[in-house]
Amino acid sequence: MRAAVQTHRVGNTPDLQSYDHVVLFTSGGKDATACMFDLLDRGVNPARIELHHHEVDGRGPAFMDWPVTGAYVAAQAVAFGVPLFRSWREGGFEREMLRQNAATAPIQFETPHGLMRAGGGGPRNTRLLFPQTSADLSVRWCSAALKIGVGAASIAGQDRFLGRRTLVVTGERAQESAARARYSTFEPHRTDTRDGSRRPRHVDHWRPVHGWDEGRVWDALQRHGMRPHPAYELGWSRLSCMACNFGSAAQWATIRLIAPALFERIAAYEDQFGRTIQRARSIRTLADLGRPYPAALSRPDLVALALGESWGLPILGLPSAWTLPAGAFGEAAGAT
Ligand code: SF4
Repeated sequence: MRAAVQTHRVGNTPDLQSYDHVVLFTSGGKDATACMFDLLDRGVNPARIELHHHEVDGRGPAFMDWPVTGAYVAAQAVAFGVPLFRSWREGGFEREMLRQNAATAPIQFETPHGLMRAGGGGPRNTRLLFPQTSADLSVRWCSAALKIGVGAASIAGQDRFLGRRTLVVTGERAQESAARARYSTFEPHRTDTRDGSRRPRHVDHWRPVHGWDEGRVWDALQRHGMRPHPAYELGWSRLSCMACNFGSAAQWATIRLIAPALFERIAAYEDQFGRTIQRARSIRTLADLGRPYPAALSRPDLVALALGESWGLPILGLPSAWTLPAGAFGEAAGAT
């Protein structure tokens, strides 16, 4: 039975040919994109690879995330020739943040056989608070509620992973932060039940670019001619949510410039909650302290692309025509 096969590893690299499914969790960022190229370069059969994208805003109107991200990830999936499965918590970030004596919302996830729904219910709680800027996921609730928990639900909820070997791949790098440096390169995934008698599934978690520096990541994108997400071209060095709670002064100044209505909605929530996103300063103060990224002023085409919901451009080009985006090697706001 395949689930009983042991994982053979060379160093921290699992035996990639031993897996039935290779599930790459991606938000379209450079590190997950580099993971995809690494899998292909190592000879993993694309027929076994699938992209999973957790939509932070829950398929509703953009609130925290870049409006174009869903379309960008879909264009990547087409370019790679692999399926894309989207998953989200109903109501996304905003509903979770506004929970008041209410249970967390159910999760929906796409599967090869249609849309499924799981979870919801559970204890009633009140948030009425932005996630805290901490590596502790119990207070930085967005990562747990909108990404990690959603990804886990989509694997645990699908019988196609039972009795099979699945490799979950994510793109965290040690260089990003002290917390990420402590992550294991290879470990059982949180959905692993290989030793259970009920619903056993073998699920490993691999971080293939954990030891890579940023230059190696950009080299991979250039070598394959992959256009990076427009957030990088605007000046962001990491593809987090557009309005990530870890945003720098320059990022908040840029958001206020390019998406003033959204900025004001977030600022109004800070007023309503009586607690700012970042403990020390409101986003209005942060924006006053920062200067917008130059590309946000000089490239209205990029701003429109990033704030739109479609992607109609080539995503792959010639490596010789590839250029490093403005945000490369910039401030590392957003890393935990
Ligand atoms: S990118 Fe920022 S706001 Fe979005 S889920 Fe991660 S920590 Fe939360």
